[in-house]
Amino acid sequence: MKIDVLTLFPEMFPGVLGASMLGRAQEKGILEFNLHNIRDYSESKHKNTDDYPFGGGAGMVMMPQPIFSCLDAVDPDHAALRVVLTPRGKTLTTAMARELAAEEHILLLCGHYEGIDERAMEQMDCEISIGDYVLTGGELPAMVLIDCISRFIPGVLGSSESAEEESFSAGLLEYPQYTRPAEYRGMIVPEVLLNGNHAHIARWRRQESFRLTWERRPELMANLDESGLDKHDRRFLAELKNQDN
Ligand code: SAM
Repeated sequence: MKIDVLTLFPEMFPGVLGASMLGRAQEKGILEFNLHNIRDYSESKHKNTDDYPFGGGAGMVMMPQPIFSCLDAVDPDHAALRVVLTPRGKTLTTAMARELAAEEHILLLCGHYEGIDERAMEQMDCEISIGDYVLTGGELPAMVLIDCISRFIPGVLGSSESAEEESFSAGLLEYPQYTRPAEYRGMIVPEVLLNGNHAHIARWRRQESFRLTWERRPELMANLDESGLDKHDRRFLAELKNQDN
């Protein structure tokens, strides 16, 4: 997948994009990142990229000209799926990340200051938010989005199963994980994980996932398809729900 990032602060990206799984995915040619400094496209004498908002108000607004010129240079035929990071966008979810992972070419526009002139916003295909809070710029949201999408691109993660067993993949939170040693500072790993009985381990994990989701994010329980559950899981769920009544 090719990802073009339009930003006023390209220097924020290399550490995140160059390390760990994303770095390796680039080396393997699975991902290609291109950073474009919007300021380079400003036609003003002092390379300005922002101006006062019409109608007054606090802060500065990113001007259309540098963004339009950057889009013309980077994506002249509008071949990329153009995404702008903005708090007013649709909130990023696993389902959205999975869909975006199927794209061949994505362009991300990062805002700064008070935001972006609406005429430039209209050149984008979709608006994505990473949550109901406001950051100083779209760079961190763009990195979050890239990381989240990348996990669903085949070959980026070590094991193809990893992304499918994570929290939210099945609509629920993930079960607790343990590694060696089996006892650390007097704290012991649940016995079921040590006995090698894969059916029991799978049941324990499923039920821990139910328990954590019920306790922390009960609204997610609506995602659970109970039709495939056996009588043990059904009883476990019924007891869980009864505890609070
Ligand atoms: N005035 C804007 C508003 O109230 O919606 C906020 C502008 S914010 C200070 C500057 C830039 O940061 C935005 O243009 C956007 O690109 C990015 N940004 C901030 N919070 C974000 C979020 N939760 N999700 C995605 N992008 C965000």
